[in-house]
Amino acid sequence: MKFVRYELNGRSPQIGLVVDNELIDLSGVAPSMHAVINLSEEGMAMIAQHANSSPRIPLQEVKLLAPLLPRRNIMCLGKNYADHAREMQADQNATVELPTVPMIFTKATTTVSGPTDPIPFDPQVSTDIDWEVELAVIIGKEGKNIPAEQAMEYVFGFTVLNDVTARDLQQQGKQFFKGKSLDGYCPTGPWIITRDELPNPHDLDVRCLVNGVEKQASNTRNMIFDIPFTIAYLSRGMTLLPGDIIATGTPDGVGAARTPPEFLRPGDVLTSIVEGVGELRNLVTAV
Ligand code: MG
Repeated sequence: MKFVRYELNGRSPQIGLVVDNELIDLSGVAPSMHAVINLSEEGMAMIAQHANSSPRIPLQEVKLLAPLLPRRNIMCLGKNYADHAREMQADQNATVELPTVPMIFTKATTTVSGPTDPIPFDPQVSTDIDWEVELAVIIGKEGKNIPAEQAMEYVFGFTVLNDVTARDLQQQGKQFFKGKSLDGYCPTGPWIITRDELPNPHDLDVRCLVNGVEKQASNTRNMIFDIPFTIAYLSRGMTLLPGDIIATGTPDGVGAARTPPEFLRPGDVLTSIVEGVGELRNLVTAV
């Protein structure tokens, strides 16, 4: 199933189910995406039943919003694709240093925006705005010390995420947090696709385009640490909660690693695609 948060005629955000380019309103069934994630199997069956007997709205008549507003920071993998680790290394002739344990940083909850929301550009804050398309995992149930073999059972679904980064701010300090956490620097969506619809999340093309020009093109099979390993690692001694978002890392092709470096400018259109999941289209907008 594909779950969305949406807005129709300026009314408050609602939850919906997308079927064949049409939307079924679930506001009477689930008040929030967190409620959807916490539904029991019976609850899910109820939704399927509701979907069969409810009116449908053409998808283009609604505005899709960020599918999930997380309750705590988004957990992100850094350098989880070897080619990206290589391109970010200062000395391109040196042997590439790949992480031997997952490199985890976080983005503030206030970064999260929707699949067509603008990416704010304020030259007073940063001028080195970079792209990082990623597959994001949505945790479905609480767990601690989750064995890798059982980790996928803790996944509710997936979404597309762009870990938009202010490189100048990222490089100024020792921690990534500030450069990763500007408002609107985490477009997500267009929906959460449930795990059952994506039986192999480790064989999906991942692409990022700027103004229609391809900048990143890889496949999730190239991740260094796969999703089960990452969930096992993160949950060791640390409880994962339903609704947690894990960004699985970006492949090579980011702007900062290009010669000369390329960064987003007002008017640029950033397209982020994960095969079988969906597509984001965000306009960089001066504020
Ligand atoms: Mg990233």
